[in-house]
Amino acid sequence: MQLTTEPLTLHLRHTFTIARSSEDIANTLLVRLRCDGVEALGESSPIMRYDETTERVARELEQLDLSRANPWAFDEVLGLLPRDEPAARCGLDLALHDLAGKRLGIPVYQLLGVDPAAAKQTSFTIGIASLEHTMAKTHEARHLPILKIKLGNGHEVETLEAVRSVYTGTIRLDANEGWTAEQAADMLKELRRFDIEFCEQPIAAGSPEQLRYVRERSPIPIMVDEDCRRLEDIAPLYGCVDGINIKLVKCGGMREGIRMIHAARALGMKVMIGCMIESSVLCTAAAHLTPLTDYADVDGPLLITDDPFSGVSYENGRLRLPAGPGLGVTPRPAP
Ligand code: MG
Repeated sequence: MQLTTEPLTLHLRHTFTIARSSEDIANTLLVRLRCDGVEALGESSPIMRYDETTERVARELEQLDLSRANPWAFDEVLGLLPRDEPAARCGLDLALHDLAGKRLGIPVYQLLGVDPAAAKQTSFTIGIASLEHTMAKTHEARHLPILKIKLGNGHEVETLEAVRSVYTGTIRLDANEGWTAEQAADMLKELRRFDIEFCEQPIAAGSPEQLRYVRERSPIPIMVDEDCRRLEDIAPLYGCVDGINIKLVKCGGMREGIRMIHAARALGMKVMIGCMIESSVLCTAAAHLTPLTDYADVDGPLLITDDPFSGVSYENGRLRLPAGPGLGVTPRPAP
């Protein structure tokens, strides 16, 4: 096998603001893995919060000697990368799955034995913005079945009043660590009247007991994202949260994601699969795991204007997996 990488620059439809940060472009890394005349694709969308960059991930991946690696031995190949480099592992893991499917001539969902018809409906994310802008974005998205509203800027009630004035579908919240435990408990009691499905990461990561405090007081179920990066993060959250948000780049790819789904299920937790701002390569891989999850937040391609690939498609928010071999992702013809 031979591996090369190239940076992707993705432009956002709207400036994307969450409780911590704001951005207009997203940089991800495309991985090309070649073996016996077959080219497979992977992607990594390194997360600044964990000091990851596309440069570092590219360096980790390009220094690998895969000339004698066995492409069917996923764990052995992934074991060539340190466990604490999940972003690099993610790029390689996706490419290995894509390669295996392409060499067998079957879609990855068949390789995994999951039913593509059971792929979930995704939420569509509305970032933090002025009330006027939030109303406009909600109006634009009003036909979609599920919205995920980013909160944590101090205008929570006004924001939800504005959203609910034009939207009757399912609403999820994500505070991205924006509140203290006391604020979260009070806030979630107040926001209950807006009919909220769940709230993601109300408080700063790293305090399971504080999460338990919030969960015991909140009428709205609590999911965690920043608190749950990898498999070993799940057990300490037992009893403290209602569920976890798995992202492939956070955990290191599809293989680790599947392990996390089973671990969370064994502890009675709900499972969501999410994404960063990333192209159809990573989001199609995430979509392939949604038949195994309760919820999906796989809207990356909907948030960008220049996705270089086609893969997962959206039918009123329902994820449709492509039927082609491997991940089923193909280059989008230039406009
Ligand atoms: Mg989140």
